[in-house]
Amino acid sequence: MKVLVSDNLSPKGIEILKQAGLKVVFKTGLKPEELKKEIKDCDGLVIRSATKVTADIIGAARKLKVIGRAGIGLDNVDIPTASKKGIIVMNTPGGNVVTTAEHTITMLLALSRNIPQATTSMKAGKWEKKKFTGREVFNKTLGIIGIGRIGSIVADRARGLKMHVIAYDPYIRPETAEKLGVGLVSLDDLYTRSDYISIHVPLTKDTRELINRESFAKMKNGVMLINCSRGGIVDEGALYEAMQSGKVAGAALDVFAQEPPPQSHPLLTMDKFICTPHLGAATEEAQENVAVAIANQLVDFLKNGNISNAVNFPSVSSDVLASIQPYLTLVEKMGSFQMQMAKGGIQEVTIEYVGDVANMDTRPITIAMLKGLFAPILKHDVNFVNAPIIAKERGVKVTELKSTTTEDFTNLITLRVKTPQEENALSGTIFGKKELRLVRINTFRLEAVLEGHMLFIYNIDEPGVIGAIGTTMGKAGLNIARMHVGQETGPGRNVILLNTNAPVSAKVLKEMLKIPQVVSAQPLEF
Ligand code: NAD
Repeated sequence: MKVLVSDNLSPKGIEILKQAGLKVVFKTGLKPEELKKEIKDCDGLVIRSATKVTADIIGAARKLKVIGRAGIGLDNVDIPTASKKGIIVMNTPGGNVVTTAEHTITMLLALSRNIPQATTSMKAGKWEKKKFTGREVFNKTLGIIGIGRIGSIVADRARGLKMHVIAYDPYIRPETAEKLGVGLVSLDDLYTRSDYISIHVPLTKDTRELINRESFAKMKNGVMLINCSRGGIVDEGALYEAMQSGKVAGAALDVFAQEPPPQSHPLLTMDKFICTPHLGAATEEAQENVAVAIANQLVDFLKNGNISNAVNFPSVSSDVLASIQPYLTLVEKMGSFQMQMAKGGIQEVTIEYVGDVANMDTRPITIAMLKGLFAPILKHDVNFVNAPIIAKERGVKVTELKSTTTEDFTNLITLRVKTPQEENALSGTIFGKKELRLVRINTFRLEAVLEGHMLFIYNIDEPGVIGAIGTTMGKAGLNIARMHVGQETGPGRNVILLNTNAPVSAKVLKEMLKIPQVVSAQPLEF
Protein backbone atom coordinates (compact mmCIF):
# COMPACT_ATOMS: atom_id res chain seq x y z
CA MET A 1 0.00 0.00 0.00
CA LYS A 2 1.12 3.49 -0.78
CA VAL A 3 1.00 6.61 1.40
CA LEU A 4 1.66 10.15 0.21
CA VAL A 5 3.07 12.56 2.78
CA SER A 6 2.49 15.98 1.23
CA ASP A 7 3.49 18.29 4.12
CA ASN A 8 6.57 18.42 6.30
CA LEU A 9 6.40 15.56 8.77
CA SER A 10 8.87 14.78 11.53
CA PRO A 11 11.20 11.91 10.36
CA LYS A 12 10.01 9.63 13.16
CA GLY A 13 6.54 9.56 11.57
CA ILE A 14 7.95 8.66 8.14
CA GLU A 15 10.03 5.92 9.76
CA ILE A 16 6.95 4.33 11.38
CA LEU A 17 5.12 4.24 8.04
CA LYS A 18 8.11 2.67 6.28
CA GLN A 19 8.76 0.12 9.00
CA ALA A 20 5.16 -1.06 8.69
CA GLY A 21 5.94 -1.97 5.06
CA LEU A 22 4.04 0.91 3.46
CA LYS A 23 5.47 2.58 0.37
CA VAL A 24 6.00 6.21 1.33
CA VAL A 25 6.14 9.09 -1.15
CA PHE A 26 7.35 12.21 0.68
CA LYS A 27 6.79 15.27 -1.54
CA THR A 28 5.93 18.68 -0.13
CA GLY A 29 4.86 21.92 -1.81
CA LEU A 30 2.96 20.16 -4.62
CA LYS A 31 0.73 22.30 -6.86
CA PRO A 32 -2.89 21.06 -7.13
CA GLU A 33 -2.29 19.43 -10.53
CA GLU A 34 0.85 17.66 -9.23
CA LEU A 35 -1.00 16.56 -6.12
CA LYS A 36 -3.83 15.12 -8.22
CA LYS A 37 -1.30 13.06 -10.17
CA GLU A 38 0.52 11.79 -7.08
CA ILE A 39 -2.61 10.89 -5.13
CA LYS A 40 -4.20 8.85 -7.93
CA ASP A 41 -2.99 5.45 -6.67
CA CYS A 42 -2.42 6.23 -2.98
CA ASP A 43 -4.23 4.45 -0.14
CA GLY A 44 -3.35 7.05 2.46
CA LEU A 45 -2.52 10.75 2.61
CA VAL A 46 -0.70 12.44 5.49
CA ILE A 47 -0.90 16.21 5.76
CA ARG A 48 -0.43 19.12 8.13
CA SER A 49 -1.98 22.51 7.41
CA ALA A 50 -0.42 23.39 4.05
CA THR A 51 -1.99 20.83 1.67
CA LYS A 52 -5.50 21.83 0.57
CA VAL A 53 -7.50 18.63 0.18
CA THR A 54 -10.35 19.95 -1.98
CA ALA A 55 -13.23 18.04 -3.61
CA ASP A 56 -11.20 18.16 -6.82
CA ILE A 57 -8.19 16.46 -5.19
CA ILE A 58 -10.43 13.86 -3.51
CA GLY A 59 -12.11 13.23 -6.87
CA ALA A 60 -8.73 12.37 -8.40
CA ALA A 61 -7.88 9.85 -5.67
CA ARG A 62 -9.04 6.46 -6.92
CA LYS A 63 -7.88 4.28 -4.02
CA LEU A 64 -7.72 6.70 -1.13
CA LYS A 65 -9.04 5.25 2.13
CA VAL A 66 -7.69 7.60 4.77
CA ILE A 67 -6.51 11.18 5.23
CA GLY A 68 -4.43 11.75 8.36
CA ARG A 69 -3.77 15.23 9.75
CA ALA A 70 -0.72 15.52 12.03
CA GLY A 71 -2.33 18.07 14.35
CA ILE A 72 -5.91 19.13 14.95
CA GLY A 73 -7.21 21.76 12.50
CA LEU A 74 -9.01 20.35 9.48
CA ASP A 75 -10.08 23.56 7.76
CA ASN A 76 -7.95 22.49 4.77
CA VAL A 77 -9.90 19.25 4.20
CA ASP A 78 -13.29 18.97 2.48
CA ILE A 79 -14.67 16.53 5.06
CA PRO A 80 -18.22 16.15 3.60
CA THR A 81 -16.76 15.11 0.20
CA ALA A 82 -14.34 12.69 1.88
CA SER A 83 -17.21 11.19 3.90
CA LYS A 84 -19.36 10.77 0.79
CA LYS A 85 -16.53 8.75 -0.80
CA GLY A 86 -16.09 6.70 2.38
CA ILE A 87 -12.65 8.15 3.09
CA ILE A 88 -11.79 8.30 6.76
CA VAL A 89 -10.42 11.61 8.01
CA MET A 90 -8.43 11.40 11.24
CA ASN A 91 -6.48 13.87 13.33
CA THR A 92 -4.38 13.81 16.50
CA PRO A 93 -6.03 15.86 19.22
CA GLY A 94 -3.90 16.50 22.26
CA GLY A 95 -0.40 16.16 20.77
CA ASN A 96 0.48 19.83 21.07
CA VAL A 97 -1.39 21.14 24.09
CA VAL A 98 1.58 21.48 26.47
CA THR A 99 3.60 23.22 23.78
CA THR A 100 0.83 25.74 23.09
CA ALA A 101 0.25 26.40 26.79
CA GLU A 102 4.00 27.04 27.22
CA HIS A 103 3.90 29.49 24.31
CA THR A 104 1.09 31.35 26.05
CA ILE A 105 3.06 31.66 29.29
CA THR A 106 6.11 32.76 27.28
CA MET A 107 4.01 35.49 25.66
CA LEU A 108 2.62 36.58 29.05
CA LEU A 109 6.10 37.01 30.56
CA ALA A 110 7.67 38.52 27.43
CA LEU A 111 4.84 41.05 27.34
CA SER A 112 5.22 41.93 31.02
CA ARG A 113 8.99 42.44 30.77
CA ASN A 114 9.26 43.91 27.24
CA ILE A 115 11.70 41.20 26.20
CA PRO A 116 11.27 41.52 22.39
CA GLN A 117 11.41 45.33 22.47
CA ALA A 118 14.48 45.38 24.75
CA THR A 119 16.25 42.86 22.52
CA THR A 120 15.61 44.99 19.42
CA SER A 121 16.79 48.13 21.27
CA MET A 122 20.04 46.52 22.43
CA LYS A 123 20.74 45.13 18.98
CA ALA A 124 20.41 48.71 17.72
CA GLY A 125 23.25 49.66 20.11
CA LYS A 126 21.07 51.21 22.84
CA TRP A 127 20.94 50.62 26.62
CA GLU A 128 17.41 51.78 27.58
CA LYS A 129 16.86 50.60 31.17
CA LYS A 130 14.13 53.06 32.09
CA LYS A 131 12.05 52.66 28.94
CA PHE A 132 11.63 48.93 29.47
CA THR A 133 10.66 48.84 33.13
CA GLY A 134 8.28 45.90 33.38
CA ARG A 135 5.49 44.54 35.51
CA GLU A 136 5.40 41.57 37.95
CA VAL A 137 2.88 38.83 37.33
CA PHE A 138 2.97 37.68 40.98
CA ASN A 139 -0.45 38.16 42.66
CA LYS A 140 -2.00 39.45 39.43
CA THR A 141 -5.27 38.03 38.09
CA LEU A 142 -5.22 36.00 34.89
CA GLY A 143 -8.60 35.57 33.19
CA ILE A 144 -8.75 32.53 30.90
CA ILE A 145 -11.48 32.34 28.27
CA GLY A 146 -12.04 28.64 27.45
CA ILE A 147 -10.68 26.25 30.05
CA GLY A 148 -10.30 23.12 27.89
CA ARG A 149 -7.07 21.20 27.40
CA ILE A 150 -4.75 24.15 26.72
CA GLY A 151 -6.58 26.60 29.02
CA SER A 152 -6.25 24.10 31.91
CA ILE A 153 -2.49 23.74 31.43
CA VAL A 154 -2.10 27.54 31.20
CA ALA A 155 -4.06 27.80 34.49
CA ASP A 156 -1.77 25.25 36.14
CA ARG A 157 1.43 26.99 34.97
CA ALA A 158 0.08 30.43 35.95
CA ARG A 159 -0.76 29.18 39.43
CA GLY A 160 2.89 28.10 39.62
CA LEU A 161 3.77 31.76 39.01
CA LYS A 162 1.47 32.58 41.95
CA MET A 163 -1.13 34.30 39.82
CA HIS A 164 -4.85 34.25 40.71
CA VAL A 165 -6.64 32.40 37.96
CA ILE A 166 -10.28 32.89 36.99
CA ALA A 167 -11.98 31.50 33.90
CA TYR A 168 -15.04 31.83 31.71
CA ASP A 169 -16.28 28.68 29.96
CA PRO A 170 -20.04 28.13 29.89
CA TYR A 171 -19.61 24.46 28.99
CA ILE A 172 -17.48 23.46 31.97
CA ARG A 173 -18.97 22.46 35.30
CA PRO A 174 -17.86 24.45 38.38
CA GLU A 175 -16.57 21.22 40.01
CA THR A 176 -14.16 20.65 37.07
CA ALA A 177 -12.83 24.20 37.38
CA GLU A 178 -12.56 23.85 41.14
CA LYS A 179 -10.30 20.80 40.72
CA LEU A 180 -8.00 23.01 38.62
CA GLY A 181 -7.97 25.65 41.36
CA VAL A 182 -9.74 28.08 39.07
CA GLY A 183 -12.81 30.18 39.87
CA LEU A 184 -15.49 30.08 37.13
CA VAL A 185 -16.92 33.56 36.52
CA SER A 186 -19.15 35.27 33.98
CA LEU A 187 -17.52 36.86 30.95
CA ASP A 188 -18.28 40.36 32.26
CA ASP A 189 -16.74 39.50 35.63
CA LEU A 190 -13.65 38.17 33.89
CA TYR A 191 -13.33 41.45 31.96
CA THR A 192 -13.64 43.64 35.05
CA ARG A 193 -11.34 41.58 37.29
CA SER A 194 -8.46 40.47 35.05
CA ASP A 195 -5.01 42.09 34.78
CA TYR A 196 -4.22 39.62 31.97
CA ILE A 197 -6.67 37.90 29.63
CA SER A 198 -5.72 34.79 27.65
CA ILE A 199 -7.98 33.17 25.06
CA HIS A 200 -8.21 29.40 24.52
CA VAL A 201 -11.47 28.73 22.66
CA PRO A 202 -12.03 27.32 19.17
CA LEU A 203 -13.20 29.65 16.41
CA THR A 204 -16.97 29.11 16.16
CA LYS A 205 -19.88 31.35 15.23
CA ASP A 206 -20.17 32.27 18.95
CA THR A 207 -16.49 33.10 19.39
CA ARG A 208 -15.90 35.03 16.15
CA GLU A 209 -14.92 38.57 17.28
CA LEU A 210 -15.85 37.59 20.84
CA ILE A 211 -13.29 40.20 21.94
CA ASN A 212 -14.64 43.38 20.39
CA ARG A 213 -15.11 47.07 21.12
CA GLU A 214 -17.72 46.43 23.83
CA SER A 215 -15.53 43.83 25.54
CA PHE A 216 -12.53 46.19 25.65
CA ALA A 217 -14.77 48.88 27.18
CA LYS A 218 -15.57 46.52 30.08
CA MET A 219 -11.92 45.57 30.77
CA LYS A 220 -9.64 47.03 33.47
CA ASN A 221 -7.47 49.94 32.38
CA GLY A 222 -3.98 48.65 31.56
CA VAL A 223 -5.08 45.07 30.91
CA MET A 224 -2.78 42.83 28.82
CA LEU A 225 -4.23 40.45 26.21
CA ILE A 226 -2.80 37.21 24.85
CA ASN A 227 -4.28 35.15 22.02
CA CYS A 228 -2.66 31.82 21.11
CA SER A 229 -5.93 30.18 20.00
CA ARG A 230 -7.34 31.17 16.59
CA GLY A 231 -7.36 34.32 14.50
CA GLY A 232 -10.72 36.04 14.14
CA ILE A 233 -11.65 35.68 17.83
CA VAL A 234 -10.14 39.10 18.60
CA ASP A 235 -11.41 42.05 16.53
CA GLU A 236 -7.98 43.37 15.55
CA GLY A 237 -9.27 46.84 14.66
CA ALA A 238 -10.88 47.17 18.08
CA LEU A 239 -7.65 45.95 19.73
CA TYR A 240 -5.67 48.63 17.90
CA GLU A 241 -8.05 51.33 19.13
CA ALA A 242 -7.94 49.95 22.69
CA MET A 243 -4.13 50.00 22.63
CA GLN A 244 -4.06 53.51 21.24
CA SER A 245 -6.35 54.79 23.98
CA GLY A 246 -4.17 53.07 26.63
CA LYS A 247 -7.02 50.80 27.78
CA VAL A 248 -4.92 47.81 26.74
CA ALA A 249 -1.32 48.20 27.97
CA GLY A 250 0.05 45.38 25.85
CA ALA A 251 -1.05 42.58 23.57
CA ALA A 252 0.53 39.39 22.28
CA LEU A 253 -0.93 37.57 19.29
CA ASP A 254 0.21 34.28 17.82
CA VAL A 255 -2.77 34.05 15.48
CA PHE A 256 -4.40 36.54 13.10
CA ALA A 257 -7.65 36.93 11.16
CA GLN A 258 -5.53 36.85 8.00
CA GLU A 259 -2.33 34.82 8.11
CA PRO A 260 0.18 36.19 7.42
CA PRO A 261 -1.27 39.63 8.24
CA PRO A 262 -0.64 42.39 5.67
CA GLN A 263 2.60 44.31 6.26
CA SER A 264 0.54 47.47 6.70
CA HIS A 265 -1.38 45.94 9.63
CA PRO A 266 -1.74 48.80 12.18
CA LEU A 267 -0.96 46.53 15.18
CA LEU A 268 2.53 45.92 13.76
CA THR A 269 3.32 49.60 14.34
CA MET A 270 2.55 49.53 18.09
CA ASP A 271 5.45 49.41 20.60
CA LYS A 272 3.51 47.40 23.14
CA PHE A 273 2.38 44.82 20.63
CA ILE A 274 4.34 41.59 20.35
CA CYS A 275 3.67 38.70 18.01
CA THR A 276 4.74 35.33 16.64
CA PRO A 277 3.80 33.76 13.28
CA HIS A 278 1.38 31.04 14.53
CA LEU A 279 4.13 29.30 16.50
CA GLY A 280 1.89 28.00 19.32
CA ALA A 281 2.34 24.35 18.40
CA ALA A 282 5.79 24.73 16.87
CA THR A 283 8.21 22.82 19.05
CA GLU A 284 10.19 19.77 18.02
CA GLU A 285 8.49 17.76 20.74
CA ALA A 286 4.97 18.65 19.58
CA GLN A 287 5.77 18.07 15.90
CA GLU A 288 7.19 14.69 16.79
CA ASN A 289 4.21 13.80 19.01
CA VAL A 290 1.68 14.48 16.25
CA ALA A 291 3.82 12.84 13.54
CA VAL A 292 4.24 9.65 15.58
CA ALA A 293 0.55 9.63 16.52
CA ILE A 294 -0.75 10.04 12.96
CA ALA A 295 1.72 7.49 11.54
CA ASN A 296 0.63 4.89 14.13
CA GLN A 297 -3.05 5.63 13.48
CA LEU A 298 -2.59 5.28 9.71
CA VAL A 299 -0.69 2.00 10.03
CA ASP A 300 -3.27 0.59 12.43
CA PHE A 301 -6.06 1.45 10.01
CA LEU A 302 -4.43 0.41 6.72
CA LYS A 303 -3.02 -2.85 8.12
CA ASN A 304 -5.54 -3.87 10.81
CA GLY A 305 -8.68 -1.92 9.90
CA ASN A 306 -8.77 -0.16 13.28
CA ILE A 307 -10.10 3.39 13.19
CA SER A 308 -8.92 5.87 15.78
CA ASN A 309 -9.54 9.61 16.16
CA ALA A 310 -11.72 9.69 13.04
CA VAL A 311 -13.76 12.85 12.70
CA ASN A 312 -16.19 11.32 10.20
CA PHE A 313 -16.65 7.62 11.09
CA PRO A 314 -17.20 5.52 14.23
CA SER A 315 -15.10 2.44 14.95
CA VAL A 316 -17.39 -0.29 13.51
CA SER A 317 -17.23 -2.80 10.64
CA SER A 318 -18.27 -1.56 7.20
CA ASP A 319 -21.43 -3.81 7.19
CA VAL A 320 -22.74 -2.37 10.44
CA LEU A 321 -21.76 1.10 9.27
CA ALA A 322 -23.90 0.81 6.12
CA SER A 323 -27.03 -0.11 8.11
CA ILE A 324 -26.68 2.55 10.81
CA GLN A 325 -25.33 5.41 8.65
CA PRO A 326 -28.66 7.31 8.29
CA TYR A 327 -29.17 7.18 12.07
CA LEU A 328 -25.64 8.47 12.65
CA THR A 329 -26.32 11.49 10.49
CA LEU A 330 -29.74 12.07 12.10
CA VAL A 331 -28.52 11.98 15.70
CA GLU A 332 -25.41 14.04 14.95
CA LYS A 333 -27.68 16.80 13.70
CA MET A 334 -30.06 16.41 16.64
CA GLY A 335 -27.09 16.64 19.06
CA SER A 336 -25.81 19.75 17.31
CA PHE A 337 -29.30 21.33 17.45
CA GLN A 338 -29.52 20.62 21.18
CA MET A 339 -26.15 22.28 21.90
CA GLN A 340 -26.95 25.28 19.69
CA MET A 341 -30.17 25.97 21.58
CA ALA A 342 -28.98 24.96 25.09
CA LYS A 343 -28.82 27.63 27.75
CA GLY A 344 -26.17 26.84 30.37
CA GLY A 345 -23.85 23.85 30.77
CA ILE A 346 -25.31 20.46 29.87
CA GLN A 347 -25.73 18.11 32.86
CA GLU A 348 -27.69 15.19 31.51
CA VAL A 349 -28.46 13.63 28.13
CA THR A 350 -31.00 10.87 27.56
CA ILE A 351 -31.31 9.17 24.20
CA GLU A 352 -34.33 6.94 23.69
CA TYR A 353 -34.54 4.44 20.83
CA VAL A 354 -38.03 3.25 19.91
CA GLY A 355 -39.03 0.69 17.23
CA ASP A 356 -36.67 -1.01 14.70
CA VAL A 357 -33.68 1.07 15.67
CA ALA A 358 -33.83 -0.33 19.23
CA ASN A 359 -32.79 -3.73 17.82
CA MET A 360 -29.59 -2.33 16.27
CA ASP A 361 -26.18 -1.85 17.90
CA THR A 362 -26.97 1.62 19.23
CA ARG A 363 -23.59 2.33 20.84
CA PRO A 364 -22.10 4.02 17.77
CA ILE A 365 -25.35 5.97 17.33
CA THR A 366 -25.14 7.32 20.87
CA ILE A 367 -21.50 8.26 20.24
CA ALA A 368 -22.48 10.05 17.01
CA MET A 369 -25.08 11.99 19.03
CA LEU A 370 -22.39 13.06 21.55
CA LYS A 371 -20.07 14.05 18.69
CA GLY A 372 -22.85 16.22 17.25
CA LEU A 373 -23.60 17.62 20.70
CA PHE A 374 -20.05 18.85 21.34
CA ALA A 375 -19.19 19.86 17.74
CA PRO A 376 -20.68 23.40 17.96
CA ILE A 377 -18.31 24.22 20.86
CA LEU A 378 -15.27 22.03 20.15
CA LYS A 379 -15.34 21.75 16.32
CA HIS A 380 -12.72 19.26 15.06
CA ASP A 381 -11.46 18.51 18.56
CA VAL A 382 -14.33 16.08 19.02
CA ASN A 383 -14.41 12.79 17.11
CA PHE A 384 -16.05 9.34 17.28
CA VAL A 385 -13.38 8.14 19.68
CA ASN A 386 -13.13 10.93 22.20
CA ALA A 387 -16.79 12.07 22.29
CA PRO A 388 -17.75 9.75 25.22
CA ILE A 389 -14.54 10.71 27.05
CA ILE A 390 -15.34 14.41 26.63
CA ALA A 391 -18.85 13.78 28.04
CA LYS A 392 -17.33 12.02 31.04
CA GLU A 393 -14.68 14.69 31.63
CA ARG A 394 -17.38 17.35 31.53
CA GLY A 395 -19.55 15.42 33.98
CA VAL A 396 -22.38 14.97 31.45
CA LYS A 397 -24.52 11.97 32.47
CA VAL A 398 -25.52 9.93 29.40
CA THR A 399 -28.44 7.48 29.56
CA GLU A 400 -29.67 5.14 26.79
CA LEU A 401 -33.25 3.85 26.83
CA LYS A 402 -34.74 1.30 24.42
CA SER A 403 -38.26 0.16 23.61
CA THR A 404 -39.41 -1.91 20.65
CA THR A 405 -43.08 -0.93 20.95
CA THR A 406 -43.88 1.88 18.55
CA GLU A 407 -46.75 4.32 18.35
CA ASP A 408 -46.73 6.66 15.33
CA PHE A 409 -43.36 5.84 13.75
CA THR A 410 -41.62 2.55 12.85
CA ASN A 411 -38.50 4.03 14.40
CA LEU A 412 -38.07 7.10 16.57
CA ILE A 413 -35.11 8.58 18.42
CA THR A 414 -35.77 11.10 21.18
CA LEU A 415 -32.96 13.17 22.62
CA ARG A 416 -33.51 14.96 25.94
CA VAL A 417 -30.91 17.43 27.18
CA LYS A 418 -30.95 18.96 30.65
CA THR A 419 -29.09 22.09 31.82
CA PRO A 420 -29.54 23.90 35.16
CA GLN A 421 -31.93 26.29 33.37
CA GLU A 422 -34.05 24.06 31.13
CA GLU A 423 -34.78 20.72 29.50
CA ASN A 424 -35.30 20.34 25.74
CA ALA A 425 -36.49 17.28 23.83
CA LEU A 426 -36.10 16.58 20.10
CA SER A 427 -37.41 13.56 18.23
CA GLY A 428 -36.26 12.37 14.82
CA THR A 429 -36.98 9.50 12.48
CA ILE A 430 -35.89 7.94 9.20
CA PHE A 431 -38.56 7.68 6.52
CA GLY A 432 -37.93 4.86 4.04
CA LYS A 433 -34.22 4.01 3.95
CA LYS A 434 -32.56 7.36 4.42
CA GLU A 435 -34.94 10.33 4.61
CA LEU A 436 -34.01 12.10 7.85
CA ARG A 437 -36.73 14.11 9.56
CA LEU A 438 -36.99 16.02 12.81
CA VAL A 439 -40.56 15.36 13.96
CA ARG A 440 -40.77 17.00 17.38
CA ILE A 441 -39.29 19.99 19.21
CA ASN A 442 -40.49 19.85 22.82
CA THR A 443 -44.32 19.90 22.55
CA PHE A 444 -44.35 20.99 18.89
CA ARG A 445 -44.89 18.47 16.10
CA LEU A 446 -43.43 19.13 12.65
CA GLU A 447 -41.52 17.44 9.83
CA ALA A 448 -38.26 19.28 9.23
CA VAL A 449 -35.02 18.64 7.36
CA LEU A 450 -31.97 19.81 9.33
CA GLU A 451 -29.40 21.06 6.84
CA GLY A 452 -27.28 24.08 5.94
CA HIS A 453 -28.14 27.52 7.34
CA MET A 454 -31.36 27.64 9.35
CA LEU A 455 -33.37 29.99 11.52
CA PHE A 456 -35.31 28.69 14.51
CA ILE A 457 -38.23 30.87 15.62
CA TYR A 458 -40.73 30.67 18.50
CA ASN A 459 -43.77 32.81 17.79
CA ILE A 460 -47.36 33.56 18.88
CA ASP A 461 -49.71 31.95 16.39
CA GLU A 462 -51.62 34.88 14.85
CA PRO A 463 -52.59 35.71 11.25
CA GLY A 464 -49.94 37.58 9.29
CA VAL A 465 -46.89 36.46 11.30
CA ILE A 466 -45.53 34.11 8.65
CA GLY A 467 -45.95 36.87 6.05
CA ALA A 468 -44.05 39.34 8.24
CA ILE A 469 -41.21 36.84 8.73
CA GLY A 470 -41.04 36.22 4.97
CA THR A 471 -40.95 39.97 4.26
CA THR A 472 -38.11 40.52 6.77
CA MET A 473 -36.05 37.77 5.16
CA GLY A 474 -36.84 39.03 1.66
CA LYS A 475 -35.80 42.60 2.54
CA ALA A 476 -32.44 41.26 3.74
CA GLY A 477 -32.00 39.43 0.42
CA LEU A 478 -32.31 36.04 2.09
CA ASN A 479 -33.99 33.26 0.18
CA ILE A 480 -36.16 30.79 2.13
CA ALA A 481 -35.60 27.35 0.62
CA ARG A 482 -37.95 25.56 3.03
CA MET A 483 -40.26 26.52 5.88
CA HIS A 484 -41.41 24.03 8.50
CA VAL A 485 -44.10 25.10 10.96
CA GLY A 486 -44.73 23.12 14.12
CA GLN A 487 -47.86 23.60 16.20
CA GLU A 488 -48.81 22.73 19.73
CA THR A 489 -51.88 20.54 20.00
CA GLY A 490 -53.98 23.49 21.22
CA PRO A 491 -53.83 27.00 19.68
CA GLY A 492 -51.24 29.41 20.97
CA ARG A 493 -47.64 29.14 19.84
CA ASN A 494 -45.70 27.88 16.84
CA VAL A 495 -42.14 26.91 16.15
CA ILE A 496 -40.82 27.72 12.70
CA LEU A 497 -37.68 26.30 11.12
CA LEU A 498 -36.46 28.05 7.99
CA ASN A 499 -33.75 26.81 5.61
CA THR A 500 -31.98 29.87 4.16
CA ASN A 501 -29.50 30.32 1.32
CA ALA A 502 -27.01 32.20 3.56
CA PRO A 503 -26.42 32.60 7.31
CA VAL A 504 -28.86 34.96 9.06
CA SER A 505 -26.91 37.98 10.30
CA ALA A 506 -27.29 39.72 13.69
CA LYS A 507 -28.90 42.67 11.87
CA VAL A 508 -31.64 40.50 10.33
CA LEU A 509 -32.20 38.83 13.71
CA LYS A 510 -32.75 42.24 15.27
CA GLU A 511 -35.35 43.04 12.60
CA MET A 512 -37.02 39.68 13.13
CA LEU A 513 -37.36 40.31 16.86
CA LYS A 514 -39.15 43.58 16.12
CA ILE A 515 -42.14 41.54 14.85
CA PRO A 516 -44.35 41.63 17.98
CA GLN A 517 -45.40 37.96 17.75
CA VAL A 518 -41.82 36.66 17.40
CA VAL A 519 -40.74 35.52 20.89
CA SER A 520 -37.25 34.32 19.95
CA ALA A 521 -35.18 33.73 16.83
CA GLN A 522 -31.93 31.85 16.64
CA PRO A 523 -29.69 30.96 13.69
CA LEU A 524 -28.57 27.33 13.46
CA GLU A 525 -25.86 25.72 11.33
CA PHE A 526 -25.83 22.09 10.19
P1 NAD B 1 -10.43 22.32 23.85
O1 NAD B 1 -11.52 21.88 22.95
O2 NAD B 1 -9.80 21.33 24.76
O3 NAD B 1 -10.95 23.57 24.74
C1 NAD B 1 -11.70 24.63 24.22
C2 NAD B 1 -12.59 25.14 25.34
O4 NAD B 1 -13.31 26.27 24.88
C3 NAD B 1 -13.64 24.11 25.79
O5 NAD B 1 -13.54 23.89 27.19
C4 NAD B 1 -14.97 24.76 25.43
O6 NAD B 1 -15.98 24.45 26.39
C5 NAD B 1 -14.61 26.23 25.45
N1 NAD B 1 -15.52 27.06 24.68
C6 NAD B 1 -16.14 26.79 23.48
N2 NAD B 1 -16.90 27.84 23.12
C7 NAD B 1 -16.78 28.78 24.09
C8 NAD B 1 -17.32 30.09 24.28
N3 NAD B 1 -18.18 30.61 23.39
N4 NAD B 1 -16.96 30.78 25.39
C9 NAD B 1 -16.10 30.25 26.30
N5 NAD B 1 -15.58 29.01 26.19
C10 NAD B 1 -15.90 28.29 25.10
O7 NAD B 1 -9.35 23.00 22.87
P2 NAD B 1 -7.78 23.21 23.13
O8 NAD B 1 -7.05 22.01 22.65
O9 NAD B 1 -7.58 23.68 24.53
O10 NAD B 1 -7.49 24.38 22.10
C11 NAD B 1 -7.89 25.73 22.37
C12 NAD B 1 -7.64 26.61 21.15
O11 NAD B 1 -6.24 26.66 20.84
C13 NAD B 1 -8.32 26.11 19.87
O12 NAD B 1 -8.80 27.25 19.16
C14 NAD B 1 -7.18 25.51 19.09
O13 NAD B 1 -7.46 25.52 17.71
C15 NAD B 1 -6.07 26.47 19.44
N6 NAD B 1 -4.71 25.96 19.20
C16 NAD B 1 -3.81 26.88 18.71
C17 NAD B 1 -2.51 26.49 18.48
C18 NAD B 1 -1.51 27.47 17.93
O14 NAD B 1 -0.64 27.06 17.20
N7 NAD B 1 -1.58 28.73 18.30
C19 NAD B 1 -2.11 25.16 18.73
C20 NAD B 1 -3.06 24.26 19.25
C21 NAD B 1 -4.36 24.69 19.49
